Amino acid sequence: MPLRVTLLGTGTSHGVPTIACDCPVCTSPDPRNRRHRTAAYLELPGGAVLIDTPPELRLQALTFGLRRVDAVLLTHTHADHIAGLDDLRRFNELAGGSIPVYGHREAMADIRARWHYIFDPTTQGGGGKPDLTLCPVEGPFPLLGETVIPIPARHGRLLVYGYRIRGFAYLTDCSELPPSSRELLRGLEVLVLGAIRRRPHETHFNLEQALAVVADVRPLQTFFTHLTHELDYETTNRELPPEVALAYDGLVINCS
Ligand SMILES: [Zn+2]
Ligand SMILES: [Zn+2]
Ligand SMILES: [Zn+2]
Repeated sequence: MPLRVTLLGTGTSHGVPTIACDCPVCTSPDPRNRRHRTAAYLELPGGAVLIDTPPELRLQALTFGLRRVDAVLLTHTHADHIAGLDDLRRFNELAGGSIPVYGHREAMADIRARWHYIFDPTTQGGGGKPDLTLCPVEGPFPLLGETVIPIPARHGRLLVYGYRIRGFAYLTDCSELPPSSRELLRGLEVLVLGAIRRRPHETHFNLEQALAVVADVRPLQTFFTHLTHELDYETTNRELPPEVALAYDGLVINCS
């Protein structure tokens, strides 16, 4: 059974258009230049997996017709990746129970601290809090009949996770990828990789650095995500090698 991936958002933390910006990308009529904050939705034979819960999760779920979430993989706890966590309440109703949330142990501790009311049994219920089961992971783990491989990376000083399932890997906010993690990305069919803009950035790969990762791990196909308003879809794509393209919201990727 194939793995079907929908990219629910492909924009940097500010989103595109950026508030109060009149640049050519923010005012572009091309819908591929309109970018919600990043997330991916994976449909597997055993169920559906959401990677990250961005602020627009409700809108993304409505736009792309999401009807179930069986598990969540968190890359890290920056607001653009978790601030839609509360929208999981509807998926609790649809699932009829708690939803497991997987991530690095520090990310799980951070979720517990920052969303403390969710995990406080004395908090009043009544639909006001999602039902989540935090699952810290250190290495490969089984999920819905698949094996998920966390890919450790650095996002500035912060340790983040990318994730690999079969020949698909997703790695957004990242500025350094150690050799051991590159080994985990060998033989990929599709890689979704963060590439924020052309200019260097302190905590993200820019286009040139992301292309260097692609040249090293050589996936059959790569899509760049977490894009700022400095990257126009059409003109940037023309400069990229044929096996690499910018992603856009709603892009569907089929993997074997
Ligand atoms: Zn981000
Ligand atoms: Zn702009
Ligand atoms: Zn981040």
